[in-house]
Amino acid sequence: MSVVCVVGTQWGDEGKGKIVDLLADRADYVVRFQGGDNAGHSVVNDLGDFGLHLVPEGIFRENVINVLGPGTVINPDALLKEIDELQAEVPSLDFEAGLRIAERAHVIMPYHVALDGALETSRGAMVQGSTRRGIGPVYSDKAARSGVRIGDLLDSDYLRGYLPHIVEANNHLLESVYGLEPVDFDALIEKCREWGEALRPYVVDTFPMIQGALAADKNVLLVGQLGIMRDLDWGHYPYVTSSTPTAAGACVSLGIAPNQMGAVIGVVKAFTSSVGEGPFPTEQNNEIGDTLRTKGQEFGGDARWKRRCGWLDLVAVKHAVAINGPAGLALTKIDMLDGFDPVMFGKAYELNGTTFDTVPDTRILQAVEPVYDSVAGWDDDTGGVQIWDDLPANARRYVERVEEITGVPVSIVGTGRHRDHAIIRNLPEGW
Ligand code: GDP
Repeated sequence: MSVVCVVGTQWGDEGKGKIVDLLADRADYVVRFQGGDNAGHSVVNDLGDFGLHLVPEGIFRENVINVLGPGTVINPDALLKEIDELQAEVPSLDFEAGLRIAERAHVIMPYHVALDGALETSRGAMVQGSTRRGIGPVYSDKAARSGVRIGDLLDSDYLRGYLPHIVEANNHLLESVYGLEPVDFDALIEKCREWGEALRPYVVDTFPMIQGALAADKNVLLVGQLGIMRDLDWGHYPYVTSSTPTAAGACVSLGIAPNQMGAVIGVVKAFTSSVGEGPFPTEQNNEIGDTLRTKGQEFGGDARWKRRCGWLDLVAVKHAVAINGPAGLALTKIDMLDGFDPVMFGKAYELNGTTFDTVPDTRILQAVEPVYDSVAGWDDDTGGVQIWDDLPANARRYVERVEEITGVPVSIVGTGRHRDHAIIRNLPEGW
């Protein structure tokens, strides 16, 4: 049995899509374990250049089963649109054979999307940077035991009995609190029926499927969305997502016991970017940040914002390392640092004479100053390099400093957007 779990170690957008696409060549299953269509995972391979929101990256490999796990939240319209668009772009993709959706995954309802937008607008100066896709409200309803699950969509009679008080409560919020249009109950039931029919071929109980795969010694690749700084408990709350993008979160979401979890790979971008609000100690609100953003095309999958950019923050990465226990790191986008001199990285924080080696709570984090270290830069073009010794000595030194400070080997170095633009140094056993 080999379970490999890929997680983000920063603020998200670390390049997980590319790493998962690369690792999926050995996978029998690729499984998303949290989040929804607020994700934007970029994949560039011989079939094209894709921005995936919900569909797992293994869809491009034959014989891989791609799973949206019970901990994910699904807007059926968004998923069906994504399937249609991918199918139009690559007609050979076989969704009926290659996609499975957990019947326990929660449905993002139209009132969740409406409430998300209204709530974010009402925050005024305390805006959190929500993607307004209903993610917060759907997870709130899940925790409040008022959610609708994908399996429910297959049974209109059940929904007719279950939904009235839930729709009533949400309509009350929409109308009375935010002055918005209520949702029409009958139209919603009809919408749910249509969604159920469209999704029926993909819906399964993922529990026996995944446990069966583990028992049969299959390779299962688990994929987190976002990164540690957006974790509901361990990120910079409240500028976080409403789920748990850690290896432990994968266990909870998928019903995998901790002792079934294999190696974790932490994805680290060679610098830092953040979409939306919240503290960001190593942010470079200057020419360096602008260069990182334009060179690195840090404008978000289809988010409205340009990403804020800054130097690599190894305190955040160490935080992710402590919480996820990765066997290896995938350091992406080192090619984007070509031409910088020196190349800086944050290795601690300081506030009023106190040094922090770990990420403090948000109200302290927003006041800290980073303690920087650096390596000398390099001018050579590292784009597309596939061999370790072909990297300039200073770029290798940078990778080694990341290893020294985090205590974790860098298993993969990313040198370009394409799947093949990577240096593979060592992969988890059995992979
Ligand atoms: P994810 O959300 O973690 O999957 O990250 P994104 O999809 O937002 O990835 C960030 C961007 O970096 C995308 O445009 C990727 O194609 C790109 N990318 C990933 N790895 C590399 C790399 O090693 N070098 C370069 N130049 N771009 C990369």
